[in-house]
Amino acid sequence: MTDRSVSIAVIGSGFGGLAAAIELKKRGHDDIVILEKADGIGGTWRDNTYPGAACDVPSPFYSYSFEPYPVWPHRFSRQPVILDYIKHVAEKYDLMRHVRLGAEVVRATYDDEARTWSVELGDGDSLVVDVLVSAVGQLSRPSYPDIPGLGTFEGPNFHSATWDHDVDLKGKRVAVIGTGASAIQFVPAIQPEVGHLSVFQRTPPYLIPRFDREFRPSHHKVFEKVPATLLAERGAWYTVTESLSVAWVYSKALSKVIQAVSKRHMRKQAAGKPGLFEKIWPTYQIGCKRILFSSDYVPALAQPNVDLVTEGIAEITPTGVRTADGKEHPADVIIWGTGFKATEFLAPMQVAGAAGRDLHTEWKDGAHAYYGISVPGFPNLLMMYGPNTNTGGGSIIYFLEAQARFLGDYVDHLAATRRPLAVREDVEQAFDAEVQEQLSGSVWSACSSWYRNANGRITTNWPLLARQYRAQAKFDPADYEVVS
Ligand code: NAP
Repeated sequence: MTDRSVSIAVIGSGFGGLAAAIELKKRGHDDIVILEKADGIGGTWRDNTYPGAACDVPSPFYSYSFEPYPVWPHRFSRQPVILDYIKHVAEKYDLMRHVRLGAEVVRATYDDEARTWSVELGDGDSLVVDVLVSAVGQLSRPSYPDIPGLGTFEGPNFHSATWDHDVDLKGKRVAVIGTGASAIQFVPAIQPEVGHLSVFQRTPPYLIPRFDREFRPSHHKVFEKVPATLLAERGAWYTVTESLSVAWVYSKALSKVIQAVSKRHMRKQAAGKPGLFEKIWPTYQIGCKRILFSSDYVPALAQPNVDLVTEGIAEITPTGVRTADGKEHPADVIIWGTGFKATEFLAPMQVAGAAGRDLHTEWKDGAHAYYGISVPGFPNLLMMYGPNTNTGGGSIIYFLEAQARFLGDYVDHLAATRRPLAVREDVEQAFDAEVQEQLSGSVWSACSSWYRNANGRITTNWPLLARQYRAQAKFDPADYEVVS
């Protein structure tokens, strides 16, 4: 139990924020407020409601290890089910009484005298806490491309993460910009109803088969009665996804095998449309961008009402898209599948640490933090899914649990000593140098992607295996200095 109460504000109620709060509560820390800017919990799984939205990591693994869910209707869960799971967890672990909805943090300032964080909200309210935990995610702020004429389109247009369900796509000419993880899910979902679909591809993704399956009531019964079966499914998918990381990090030979599997799959699926395979087969090093599990995207591209446009976009016009070859592609609706501002960590919040140090100034060349959790000069600030904690293949929840354990150990220590800590500058710098050294020759440095910021620095990805992160990311007071 806690010696004395530590007050904690967690920003965000997605998988990361809830993991943090559950771990803290398990350890007896109950003075927790979860600040959520939206009107419901769930983070990215609340926001991304596009048709076909689903997880591309199997649910038995893309879920908390301490909260198995025998009733998954599919191996690859659809968004509404994942959101249900999040709500179930929040109820079961008594988190809702800690959640404050409609509470957007605009500024957080460390008070050197009081040794507390002052947290200002968008509605003008503020609160003071001992510990601030940011769990705002990496993929919460939509990114729109810098294309001439962007604002001139006269029809409806929206981003995949802010899907406008009031726009009826039936029979319409729809232009989709982007072919990443989101687009490859919503393209097959909308293709049957739209009149014509133009998919604008700048760089194709590598695809491997999605071995989805329905879990029926009989499976649910077995998962419930014999938990080892669900655990086995979890373990198997941990192994499969960790093998992807093994391939990207350690094994060119395994990468080649995965590439061969992808080629066979994509060629077979594109066979119905002459020339399609040649357009969708990537030329960059496999693993450099996120590899995607999909068995319905290429068949959708092969349909007669779909054009895959590989010519670069020159301009958005009031009536559609004009490509570099001068061709007009008329559209009634444009959908931006152009991803997120992943490298702008904690933006647009203003965060001022000890002696007024501004977090975004510290990070002007790219975000960095000790195991993605602690930044020198920012006492008692901890992050979930912070810099360099993304994985090129596996389940982020596995990483979040490691960060929650770190946070729990940290807060236990703080509760016992009552002395705020900041990670030592030399420790964080050495850590960051090693991470960047490992990343510099890695597969992720071989192309451009959302893993890299404008300077080319890889700020999102962890360079090694998930298992190694979990083994290494442990709180040790010796890595920190007491802030007086
Ligand atoms: P993304 O992977 O970043 O894809 C964005 C797409 O937009 C890319 O194809 C990109 O092309 C294209 N694009 C960007 N700017 C462009 C421009 N100016 N002109 C033409 N095309 C442009 O974004 P996302 O699909 O939203 O996925 C982001 C991440 O979210 C994923 O990697 C994944 O981690 C997560 N996600 C997860 C799931 C899940 O199932 N768990 C589902 C969806 C998303 P380039 O490649 O050439 O830049």
